[in-house]
Amino acid sequence: MAGLLEGHIAAVTGGGSGIGQGICQAYAREGARVVVLDVNLDGAHETVGLIKAAGGKASAVRLDVTDRQACRDIAATIARDGNISILVNNAGINRRNPITGDAAAVAKDWEDILSINLDGVFNVTHAFLDQLRATRGRIVNIGSIQSFVHVSWPNSAAYTTSKHGVLGFTRALAAELGKDGVRVNAIGPGLIETRINAEARAKNPDMVANVMRHTPLNRAGKPEDIAGPAVFLASDMSSYVTGCIIMADGGFRTV
Ligand code: NAP
Repeated sequence: MAGLLEGHIAAVTGGGSGIGQGICQAYAREGARVVVLDVNLDGAHETVGLIKAAGGKASAVRLDVTDRQACRDIAATIARDGNISILVNNAGINRRNPITGDAAAVAKDWEDILSINLDGVFNVTHAFLDQLRATRGRIVNIGSIQSFVHVSWPNSAAYTTSKHGVLGFTRALAAELGKDGVRVNAIGPGLIETRINAEARAKNPDMVANVMRHTPLNRAGKPEDIAGPAVFLASDMSSYVTGCIIMADGGFRTV
């Protein structure tokens, strides 16, 4: 049986680790050729190795999503082998520090988090816009429970702001690009066990327990839990879905 993404070329930022790596593997399994973009080239190569070992097609490119010109250059290079039809804006960081802490450190957190998590989404999307319009493509942005709420994740004002922005950008682009046949959606993961929160989980078991008390499925997620919704939103299975966020959070936000 043909895969759901046969004939597609997908670019995934932050594809060298965690959720992005899981999405890359799932897209390749469904027949897409995957361009793994990550500031961490070793991680991107690891993802490509996993995909090729499973018989899929992938390549690795180093990209820092904060570098707008590099985003444009890489998009132009990729276009020589064909336009992408799927873009996943997944690269992101988080730091949990109180806004009342050291002023210079707070300002640095704000700049770093907003420039990667929000400006980066703009930089990459804008660089690939012509390709996505030409292919009537699909954009999948990675939001968060913190696209809505903050209370269970203290000390992360910049991250919460960035993920609210990702959801706003998703809705605005869906409205603007619908006429071109480009669908734009987001996924809101709950607590997914990846490197981004390894230290926080280890240092702060109370935070994890607090989240689990409010999570009907009563477990943390794995990158595979996000891959399914990401395949759905990139495939024709979601042909009439745009501007939405699918929460993949064990039920946290819904109940
Ligand atoms: P992860 O394992 O740390 O993966 C993030 C990847 O993005 C890493 O390879 C990282 O490289 C890369 N990256 C960081 N800065 C970059 C930049 N400037 N340009 C390009 N790539 C960059 O974390 P994850 O949990 O999979 O996170 C993926 C996305 O899911 C993020 O947007 C995150 O906010 C979101 N999310 C995660 C959770 C969760 O619980 N895990 C929940 C909700 C939303 P380095 O390792 O070198 O930094």
